[in-house]
Amino acid sequence: MTPPRKLHIKSYGCQMNVYDAQRMVDTLGAEGFVETADAGDADLVILNTCHIREKASEKVYSELGRLRVAKEEAAKAGRAMQIAVAGCVAQAEGAEIIARAPTVDVVVGPQSYHHLPQLLSQASRGERAIETEFPAEDKFGFLAKPSREAIRARGVSAFVTVQEGCDKFCTFCVVPYTRGAEMSRPVARIVDDVMQLTESGVREITLIGQNVNAYHGDGPDGRAWTLGRLLYRIAEIPGVARIRYSTSHPNDVDDDLIAAHRDLRAVMPFVHLPVQSGSDRILDLMNRRHGAADYRRVVDRFRSVRPDIAFSSDFIVGFPGETEEDFRATLALIDQIGYAAAYSFKYSPRPGTPAADMQEMVSATEMDERLERLQSLIDSQQAAFNRSAIGTVVDVLFERAARKPGQLVGRTAYLQPAHVMASEDIIGQVLPVRIDSLERYSLLGELVTTPAARPDVASLMSIGG
Ligand code: SF4
Repeated sequence: MTPPRKLHIKSYGCQMNVYDAQRMVDTLGAEGFVETADAGDADLVILNTCHIREKASEKVYSELGRLRVAKEEAAKAGRAMQIAVAGCVAQAEGAEIIARAPTVDVVVGPQSYHHLPQLLSQASRGERAIETEFPAEDKFGFLAKPSREAIRARGVSAFVTVQEGCDKFCTFCVVPYTRGAEMSRPVARIVDDVMQLTESGVREITLIGQNVNAYHGDGPDGRAWTLGRLLYRIAEIPGVARIRYSTSHPNDVDDDLIAAHRDLRAVMPFVHLPVQSGSDRILDLMNRRHGAADYRRVVDRFRSVRPDIAFSSDFIVGFPGETEEDFRATLALIDQIGYAAAYSFKYSPRPGTPAADMQEMVSATEMDERLERLQSLIDSQQAAFNRSAIGTVVDVLFERAARKPGQLVGRTAYLQPAHVMASEDIIGQVLPVRIDSLERYSLLGELVTTPAARPDVASLMSIGG
């Protein structure tokens, strides 16, 4: 019997990449690969890259430099190592990677992972392979499904991609170029995936897509279903205790989605709703196609049906042309909304995007200073939000043993980690926990028998900075 070949996959960036990496592991598992944590010991190393962060491609090339040494050592030991570059940098700069890095055997864009086995065989015959097209077929229909053991090993919470690509063309963003036009998977395929996951013990499903609430997949009735309708269908699947979705665009929040939050207890009252800036002028330059007031109205619509809903968001500081007044408008918006968490970044240009040609760059010192002010406001809101849980009883989905012996860790509806002393039998269950204290970002508490209502967090969140 041929021994299994070893695969090491290093994934950067967003949830989509985490999910894609798992599906590559499943697909290559069907071809006889097993995962190894040691790149030096692998027969195949895949770098699953992300183009969002600054200097993304430089980081890929320095990682490839290290892998070249590992590949040479493997060759000296009589072992052939293949190196593949996947993800958004592969999509954006595939030809250049092939030209600049002779150590790379395969370059594969995110829409072509189902072709990996053929691309690797092509490379084994000495022909370096590159595929960065946007094929018409749904790659997920061709990628191997995970085994029951793989699902169990990945835990009680799982991602399912429902949508890929984006048609919005925000001026700072590479996604429309690296992931292509919006594509939604059919409802029936998503339902099959979720059923397979829940049959193997998954309790929490996060539906993911670059622009997830632009979902418009074919429904069983032959019509395009909205994300809201999809949520109702997913909530009917036995074993689904919690549903989340990410990442949403404010303009695609429709009545179905609001109704799903009103009607479905399984839909978690925590929404990641990026706004990027609070200044209408900057939002316009970003081509976000909404203003700050539109965003506030969307938040109000959610809150009108679920007063306990909380929000996280993304912010870019120092977008070209951002003045102190624009930045203050962002702080004002944060103050008005009150966030449970947020991700904030300094603007950095992405080659090929319209914003990369904008001239009025904000100085590095100003960017640093603004980022610090914004993060300190968000931190104070997050701390207040977490403190508001003390003394209340919250539902926790238990995920795994914590580092401290006898302690388990789970997540609240708001994705806060919660620690309790309890037996591992309750992993996979959603149980009420009385929160006693806070340790940095973690809630500490104890199991109780009867859940009690949590206070209206919308009012708690309006305390601002
Ligand atoms: S909506 Fe999101 S994914 Fe689409 S272009 Fe804008 S930032 Fe990028």
